[in-house]
Amino acid sequence: MKKMFIVGPVDVFDDVLAVMGEQVIAHYGDDFVRLYRETQDLTRMVLGASGDVFLMAGPGTAGLDACLGSLLQTGEKVLIPVSGFFSDRLVAVAKGSGLEPVVEEFEWGAPVEPERLRRRLASEKGVAALAFVHHETSTGVLNPLDEIVGVAHEFGVPVIVDAVASAGGVPVDVDRLGIEFLVTVANKALEAPPGLSIVSVNKRAWELMDKGGPRNHGWYLDLRTWRDYATRWADWHPFPVTLPTSVVRALHTSLLRIQREGLDHHFARFARAAEQVRQGLRAMGFSMMVEGRYACPVVSAVWARPEFPVAEMAAYLEHERGLMIAGGIGPLKGKIFRIGHMGKATTQEYIDELLAAVRDFLRMKGLA
Ligand SMILES: *Cc1c(COP(=O)(O)O)cnc(C)c1O
Repeated sequence: MKKMFIVGPVDVFDDVLAVMGEQVIAHYGDDFVRLYRETQDLTRMVLGASGDVFLMAGPGTAGLDACLGSLLQTGEKVLIPVSGFFSDRLVAVAKGSGLEPVVEEFEWGAPVEPERLRRRLASEKGVAALAFVHHETSTGVLNPLDEIVGVAHEFGVPVIVDAVASAGGVPVDVDRLGIEFLVTVANKALEAPPGLSIVSVNKRAWELMDKGGPRNHGWYLDLRTWRDYATRWADWHPFPVTLPTSVVRALHTSLLRIQREGLDHHFARFARAAEQVRQGLRAMGFSMMVEGRYACPVVSAVWARPEFPVAEMAAYLEHERGLMIAGGIGPLKGKIFRIGHMGKATTQEYIDELLAAVRDFLRMKGLA
Protein backbone atom coordinates (compact mmCIF):
# COMPACT_ATOMS: atom_id res chain seq x y z
CA MET A 1 0.00 0.00 0.00
CA LYS A 2 1.14 3.53 -0.70
CA LYS A 3 1.42 5.95 2.18
CA MET A 4 -0.88 8.89 1.63
CA PHE A 5 0.08 12.52 2.03
CA ILE A 6 -2.71 13.76 -0.23
CA VAL A 7 -5.37 16.19 1.01
CA GLY A 8 -7.98 13.51 1.62
CA PRO A 9 -8.81 10.75 1.88
CA VAL A 10 -6.12 9.98 4.43
CA ASP A 11 -4.37 6.95 5.87
CA VAL A 12 -6.52 6.08 8.88
CA PHE A 13 -5.25 4.82 12.23
CA ASP A 14 -5.30 1.14 13.13
CA ASP A 15 -8.37 1.33 15.40
CA VAL A 16 -10.40 2.60 12.43
CA LEU A 17 -8.88 0.00 10.10
CA ALA A 18 -9.84 -2.79 12.49
CA VAL A 19 -13.49 -1.70 12.49
CA MET A 20 -13.52 -1.57 8.69
CA GLY A 21 -12.52 -5.23 8.62
CA GLU A 22 -15.56 -6.35 10.62
CA GLN A 23 -18.88 -7.66 9.31
CA VAL A 24 -21.43 -5.20 7.89
CA ILE A 25 -24.26 -4.24 10.27
CA ALA A 26 -27.90 -3.20 9.71
CA HIS A 27 -28.72 0.47 9.30
CA TYR A 28 -31.75 0.42 11.61
CA GLY A 29 -32.78 -0.87 15.01
CA ASP A 30 -31.55 -0.14 18.55
CA ASP A 31 -27.86 -0.87 18.03
CA PHE A 32 -27.42 1.29 14.96
CA VAL A 33 -29.62 4.12 16.27
CA ARG A 34 -27.45 4.26 19.42
CA LEU A 35 -24.28 4.31 17.29
CA TYR A 36 -25.72 7.02 15.01
CA ARG A 37 -26.70 9.23 17.95
CA GLU A 38 -23.34 8.82 19.66
CA THR A 39 -21.61 9.71 16.38
CA GLN A 40 -23.81 12.81 16.04
CA ASP A 41 -22.87 13.86 19.60
CA LEU A 42 -19.15 13.32 19.01
CA THR A 43 -19.43 15.35 15.81
CA ARG A 44 -21.15 18.17 17.75
CA MET A 45 -18.20 18.15 20.16
CA VAL A 46 -15.73 18.65 17.28
CA LEU A 47 -17.84 21.35 15.61
CA GLY A 48 -18.79 23.19 18.81
CA ALA A 49 -22.39 22.73 17.73
CA SER A 50 -25.53 21.95 19.71
CA GLY A 51 -28.04 22.08 16.86
CA ASP A 52 -28.97 19.38 14.36
CA VAL A 53 -26.25 17.29 12.77
CA PHE A 54 -26.97 14.93 9.88
CA LEU A 55 -24.68 12.20 8.61
CA MET A 56 -25.62 12.00 4.94
CA ALA A 57 -24.39 9.24 2.66
CA GLY A 58 -22.34 10.98 0.02
CA PRO A 59 -19.30 13.17 -0.58
CA GLY A 60 -18.81 16.65 0.89
CA THR A 61 -20.41 18.16 -2.17
CA ALA A 62 -23.71 16.41 -1.32
CA GLY A 63 -23.91 18.34 1.95
CA LEU A 64 -23.12 21.63 0.23
CA ASP A 65 -25.72 20.89 -2.42
CA ALA A 66 -28.27 20.12 0.31
CA CYS A 67 -27.62 23.36 2.21
CA LEU A 68 -27.71 25.65 -0.83
CA GLY A 69 -30.78 23.97 -2.30
CA SER A 70 -32.71 23.70 0.98
CA LEU A 71 -32.10 27.27 2.13
CA LEU A 72 -32.45 29.28 -1.02
CA GLN A 73 -35.40 29.71 -3.31
CA THR A 74 -34.97 29.38 -7.05
CA GLY A 75 -33.38 32.49 -8.54
CA GLU A 76 -32.18 33.91 -5.22
CA LYS A 77 -28.75 35.51 -4.98
CA VAL A 78 -25.92 33.91 -3.04
CA LEU A 79 -22.65 35.76 -2.51
CA ILE A 80 -19.62 33.50 -3.04
CA PRO A 81 -16.03 34.67 -2.59
CA VAL A 82 -13.92 32.70 -5.08
CA SER A 83 -10.22 32.14 -4.46
CA GLY A 84 -9.55 28.59 -5.60
CA PHE A 85 -10.92 25.34 -6.99
CA PHE A 86 -13.38 24.56 -4.20
CA SER A 87 -14.89 28.03 -3.95
CA ASP A 88 -15.30 27.91 -7.72
CA ARG A 89 -17.07 24.57 -7.28
CA LEU A 90 -19.53 26.27 -4.88
CA VAL A 91 -20.54 28.54 -7.74
CA ALA A 92 -21.30 25.48 -9.89
CA VAL A 93 -23.30 23.87 -7.09
CA ALA A 94 -25.33 27.08 -6.61
CA LYS A 95 -26.10 27.20 -10.34
CA GLY A 96 -27.20 23.56 -10.16
CA SER A 97 -29.88 24.58 -7.65
CA GLY A 98 -31.11 27.35 -9.94
CA LEU A 99 -29.57 30.11 -7.81
CA GLU A 100 -27.88 33.29 -8.93
CA PRO A 101 -24.28 33.30 -7.70
CA VAL A 102 -22.81 36.74 -7.00
CA VAL A 103 -19.08 36.17 -7.29
CA GLU A 104 -16.41 38.21 -5.53
CA GLU A 105 -13.01 37.15 -6.90
CA PHE A 106 -9.77 36.95 -4.96
CA GLU A 107 -6.35 35.87 -6.08
CA TRP A 108 -5.67 32.14 -5.69
CA GLY A 109 -3.43 31.81 -2.64
CA ALA A 110 -4.69 35.02 -1.04
CA PRO A 111 -7.22 35.04 1.81
CA VAL A 112 -10.78 36.25 1.36
CA GLU A 113 -10.98 39.88 2.57
CA PRO A 114 -13.98 40.47 4.83
CA GLU A 115 -13.93 44.19 4.03
CA ARG A 116 -14.54 43.54 0.34
CA LEU A 117 -17.47 41.28 1.22
CA ARG A 118 -18.85 44.04 3.45
CA ARG A 119 -18.69 46.51 0.58
CA ARG A 120 -20.34 44.03 -1.78
CA LEU A 121 -23.14 43.28 0.66
CA ALA A 122 -23.69 47.02 1.11
CA SER A 123 -23.97 47.63 -2.64
CA GLU A 124 -25.57 44.44 -3.98
CA LYS A 125 -29.29 44.25 -3.31
CA GLY A 126 -31.15 41.05 -2.48
CA VAL A 127 -28.31 38.74 -1.39
CA ALA A 128 -30.03 35.91 0.50
CA ALA A 129 -26.93 34.01 1.74
CA LEU A 130 -23.15 33.99 1.86
CA ALA A 131 -21.51 30.67 0.98
CA PHE A 132 -17.76 30.35 1.36
CA VAL A 133 -14.89 27.93 1.81
CA HIS A 134 -13.13 28.04 5.18
CA HIS A 135 -9.98 26.16 4.21
CA GLU A 136 -9.45 26.48 0.44
CA THR A 137 -7.76 23.13 -0.03
CA SER A 138 -6.46 23.97 -3.50
CA THR A 139 -4.19 26.70 -2.09
CA GLY A 140 -3.77 25.83 1.61
CA VAL A 141 -5.31 29.14 2.67
CA LEU A 142 -7.35 29.24 5.87
CA ASN A 143 -9.86 32.06 5.47
CA PRO A 144 -10.77 34.21 8.50
CA LEU A 145 -13.95 32.43 9.63
CA ASP A 146 -14.96 34.76 12.49
CA GLU A 147 -14.66 37.92 10.44
CA ILE A 148 -16.43 36.56 7.36
CA VAL A 149 -19.35 35.20 9.40
CA GLY A 150 -19.44 38.49 11.32
CA VAL A 151 -19.75 40.52 8.12
CA ALA A 152 -22.62 38.37 6.82
CA HIS A 153 -24.47 38.67 10.12
CA GLU A 154 -24.03 42.47 10.14
CA PHE A 155 -26.36 42.37 7.12
CA GLY A 156 -28.61 39.66 8.59
CA VAL A 157 -27.40 37.29 5.87
CA PRO A 158 -27.10 33.57 6.81
CA VAL A 159 -23.90 31.65 6.04
CA ILE A 160 -23.15 28.29 4.48
CA VAL A 161 -19.63 27.29 5.47
CA ASP A 162 -17.70 24.73 3.44
CA ALA A 163 -15.58 23.40 6.30
CA VAL A 164 -14.92 20.15 4.44
CA ALA A 165 -11.15 20.48 4.81
CA SER A 166 -11.01 22.46 8.06
CA ALA A 167 -13.43 21.01 10.61
CA GLY A 168 -11.51 18.67 12.89
CA GLY A 169 -8.21 20.30 11.91
CA VAL A 170 -8.88 23.77 13.35
CA PRO A 171 -11.71 25.09 15.57
CA VAL A 172 -14.94 26.03 13.78
CA ASP A 173 -17.12 27.07 16.79
CA VAL A 174 -20.56 26.73 15.21
CA ASP A 175 -22.54 27.88 18.29
CA ARG A 176 -20.25 30.75 19.27
CA LEU A 177 -20.36 32.19 15.74
CA GLY A 178 -24.01 31.34 15.11
CA ILE A 179 -23.14 29.50 11.90
CA GLU A 180 -26.42 28.58 10.20
CA PHE A 181 -25.05 25.83 7.94
CA LEU A 182 -21.70 24.06 8.08
CA VAL A 183 -20.57 21.08 6.04
CA THR A 184 -17.69 18.69 6.54
CA VAL A 185 -16.78 15.07 5.73
CA ALA A 186 -15.54 11.94 7.48
CA ASN A 187 -12.48 11.47 5.29
CA LYS A 188 -10.34 14.54 5.89
CA ALA A 189 -9.45 15.97 9.31
CA LEU A 190 -11.79 13.52 11.06
CA GLU A 191 -9.48 10.72 9.88
CA ALA A 192 -12.10 8.20 8.74
CA PRO A 193 -12.80 6.70 5.29
CA PRO A 194 -14.90 8.47 2.62
CA GLY A 195 -18.68 8.03 2.39
CA LEU A 196 -20.28 10.55 4.73
CA SER A 197 -21.10 14.22 4.45
CA ILE A 198 -21.70 15.88 7.82
CA VAL A 199 -24.14 18.79 7.91
CA SER A 200 -24.73 21.07 10.89
CA VAL A 201 -27.91 23.16 10.91
CA ASN A 202 -28.90 25.66 13.61
CA LYS A 203 -32.25 27.04 14.74
CA ARG A 204 -32.15 30.16 12.58
CA ALA A 205 -31.39 27.98 9.55
CA TRP A 206 -34.62 26.07 10.12
CA GLU A 207 -36.63 29.28 10.43
CA LEU A 208 -35.29 30.37 7.05
CA MET A 209 -35.84 26.96 5.44
CA ASP A 210 -39.42 26.91 6.68
CA LYS A 211 -40.27 30.00 4.65
CA GLY A 212 -42.27 29.02 1.59
CA GLY A 213 -41.27 29.48 -2.03
CA PRO A 214 -40.07 27.31 -4.91
CA ARG A 215 -36.77 25.46 -4.47
CA ASN A 216 -34.75 23.11 -6.67
CA HIS A 217 -33.39 20.56 -4.22
CA GLY A 218 -34.96 17.23 -5.12
CA TRP A 219 -35.98 14.97 -2.23
CA TYR A 220 -32.85 13.26 -0.92
CA LEU A 221 -30.90 16.52 -0.65
CA ASP A 222 -33.76 18.41 0.98
CA LEU A 223 -32.74 18.91 4.63
CA ARG A 224 -36.43 18.97 5.56
CA THR A 225 -36.62 15.33 4.45
CA TRP A 226 -33.82 14.56 6.93
CA ARG A 227 -35.58 16.45 9.73
CA ASP A 228 -38.83 14.69 8.94
CA TYR A 229 -37.30 11.18 9.33
CA ALA A 230 -35.27 12.25 12.36
CA THR A 231 -38.59 12.94 14.11
CA ARG A 232 -41.10 10.51 12.63
CA TRP A 233 -38.75 7.51 12.57
CA ALA A 234 -36.71 8.65 15.59
CA ASP A 235 -36.94 5.34 17.42
CA TRP A 236 -35.70 2.97 14.72
CA HIS A 237 -34.40 4.70 11.56
CA PRO A 238 -33.83 8.46 12.09
CA PHE A 239 -32.72 9.22 8.50
CA PRO A 240 -34.43 8.68 5.15
CA VAL A 241 -32.12 6.16 3.43
CA THR A 242 -29.65 3.31 3.99
CA LEU A 243 -26.46 4.71 5.47
CA PRO A 244 -22.97 3.26 4.87
CA THR A 245 -22.95 1.56 8.27
CA SER A 246 -19.30 0.49 8.11
CA VAL A 247 -18.28 4.10 7.51
CA VAL A 248 -20.44 5.33 10.39
CA ARG A 249 -18.73 2.76 12.65
CA ALA A 250 -15.32 3.86 11.39
CA LEU A 251 -16.14 7.53 11.95
CA HIS A 252 -17.46 6.74 15.44
CA THR A 253 -14.21 4.97 16.29
CA SER A 254 -12.10 7.83 14.95
CA LEU A 255 -14.15 10.43 16.86
CA LEU A 256 -13.78 8.44 20.09
CA ARG A 257 -10.01 8.51 19.58
CA ILE A 258 -10.13 12.27 18.96
CA GLN A 259 -12.18 12.67 22.14
CA ARG A 260 -9.65 10.62 24.14
CA GLU A 261 -6.78 12.52 22.57
CA GLY A 262 -8.52 15.80 23.49
CA LEU A 263 -9.59 18.21 20.78
CA ASP A 264 -6.79 20.68 21.54
CA HIS A 265 -4.19 17.94 21.31
CA HIS A 266 -5.77 16.75 18.09
CA PHE A 267 -5.44 20.24 16.57
CA ALA A 268 -1.89 20.50 17.94
CA ARG A 269 -0.89 17.20 16.28
CA PHE A 270 -1.82 18.64 12.85
CA ALA A 271 -0.05 21.93 13.54
CA ARG A 272 3.10 20.15 14.74
CA ALA A 273 3.20 17.93 11.66
CA ALA A 274 2.68 20.90 9.36
CA GLU A 275 5.44 22.86 11.07
CA GLN A 276 7.88 19.96 10.88
CA VAL A 277 7.22 19.27 7.21
CA ARG A 278 7.44 22.97 6.33
CA GLN A 279 10.72 23.41 8.24
CA GLY A 280 12.14 20.31 6.57
CA LEU A 281 11.16 21.43 3.08
CA ARG A 282 12.39 24.99 3.63
CA ALA A 283 15.74 23.60 4.73
CA MET A 284 15.89 21.80 1.38
CA GLY A 285 15.26 25.01 -0.54
CA PHE A 286 11.49 24.92 -1.04
CA SER A 287 9.22 27.82 -0.18
CA MET A 288 5.63 27.80 0.97
CA MET A 289 2.85 29.34 -1.08
CA VAL A 290 1.12 30.66 2.04
CA GLU A 291 2.96 31.95 5.10
CA GLY A 292 1.85 33.19 8.50
CA ARG A 293 -1.67 33.59 9.82
CA TYR A 294 -3.47 32.28 6.73
CA ALA A 295 -1.42 29.10 6.28
CA CYS A 296 -3.76 26.25 7.20
CA PRO A 297 -2.19 23.57 9.44
CA VAL A 298 -4.14 20.86 7.59
CA VAL A 299 -2.44 21.25 4.20
CA SER A 300 0.86 22.72 3.01
CA ALA A 301 1.01 24.18 -0.49
CA VAL A 302 4.62 24.31 -1.66
CA TRP A 303 6.03 26.09 -4.71
CA ALA A 304 7.58 23.83 -7.33
CA ARG A 305 11.28 24.47 -7.95
CA PRO A 306 12.41 25.73 -11.34
CA GLU A 307 15.10 23.02 -11.73
CA PHE A 308 12.69 20.13 -12.41
CA PRO A 309 9.01 19.50 -13.23
CA VAL A 310 7.15 18.89 -9.99
CA ALA A 311 5.39 15.92 -11.63
CA GLU A 312 8.78 14.19 -11.83
CA MET A 313 9.24 14.44 -8.08
CA ALA A 314 5.68 13.27 -7.42
CA ALA A 315 6.20 10.28 -9.74
CA TYR A 316 9.48 9.38 -8.01
CA LEU A 317 7.83 9.58 -4.58
CA GLU A 318 4.86 7.50 -5.69
CA HIS A 319 6.52 4.83 -7.81
CA GLU A 320 9.97 4.50 -6.23
CA ARG A 321 9.08 5.24 -2.61
CA GLY A 322 5.36 4.45 -2.31
CA LEU A 323 4.44 7.92 -1.07
CA MET A 324 1.53 9.85 -2.60
CA ILE A 325 1.51 13.62 -2.54
CA ALA A 326 -1.00 15.94 -4.23
CA GLY A 327 -0.30 18.22 -7.16
CA GLY A 328 -1.72 21.63 -7.93
CA ILE A 329 -5.14 21.89 -9.59
CA GLY A 330 -6.52 24.34 -12.12
CA PRO A 331 -4.16 27.25 -12.78
CA LEU A 332 -1.77 25.90 -10.12
CA LYS A 333 -1.13 22.62 -11.96
CA GLY A 334 2.63 22.17 -12.31
CA LYS A 335 3.27 25.20 -10.12
CA ILE A 336 2.81 23.75 -6.65
CA PHE A 337 2.55 20.47 -4.79
CA ARG A 338 0.50 19.88 -1.66
CA ILE A 339 1.03 17.78 1.44
CA GLY A 340 -1.83 16.83 3.75
CA HIS A 341 -1.22 16.72 7.52
CA MET A 342 -4.00 14.39 8.60
CA GLY A 343 -4.28 10.79 9.78
CA LYS A 344 -1.06 8.80 9.76
CA ALA A 345 0.67 11.57 7.79
CA THR A 346 0.93 13.37 11.16
CA THR A 347 3.09 10.60 12.65
CA GLN A 348 6.85 10.94 13.05
CA GLU A 349 7.38 7.79 10.99
CA TYR A 350 5.49 9.18 8.00
CA ILE A 351 7.06 12.64 8.26
CA ASP A 352 10.60 11.26 8.46
CA GLU A 353 9.98 8.95 5.52
CA LEU A 354 8.58 11.75 3.36
CA LEU A 355 11.39 14.20 4.11
CA ALA A 356 14.06 11.55 3.53
CA ALA A 357 12.54 10.61 0.17
CA VAL A 358 12.38 14.24 -0.97
CA ARG A 359 16.04 14.67 0.09
CA ASP A 360 17.02 11.57 -1.91
CA PHE A 361 15.22 12.92 -4.97
CA LEU A 362 17.08 16.24 -4.70
CA ARG A 363 20.40 14.36 -4.34
CA MET A 364 19.59 12.36 -7.43
CA LYS A 365 19.02 15.62 -9.30
CA GLY A 366 22.31 16.97 -7.93
CA LEU A 367 20.49 19.60 -5.93
CA ALA A 368 21.35 18.54 -2.37
C1 LIG B 1 -12.53 17.88 -0.44
C2 LIG B 1 -13.28 19.18 -0.50
C3 LIG B 1 -14.58 19.27 -1.02
C4 LIG B 1 -15.28 18.20 -1.80
O1 LIG B 1 -15.40 17.06 -1.19
P1 LIG B 1 -16.04 15.81 -1.98
O2 LIG B 1 -16.13 14.86 -0.85
O3 LIG B 1 -15.08 15.40 -3.04
O4 LIG B 1 -17.35 16.22 -2.51
C5 LIG B 1 -15.25 20.48 -0.93
N1 LIG B 1 -14.67 21.55 -0.38
C6 LIG B 1 -13.40 21.50 0.10
C7 LIG B 1 -12.82 22.74 0.67
C8 LIG B 1 -12.68 20.31 0.05
O5 LIG B 1 -11.43 20.27 0.51
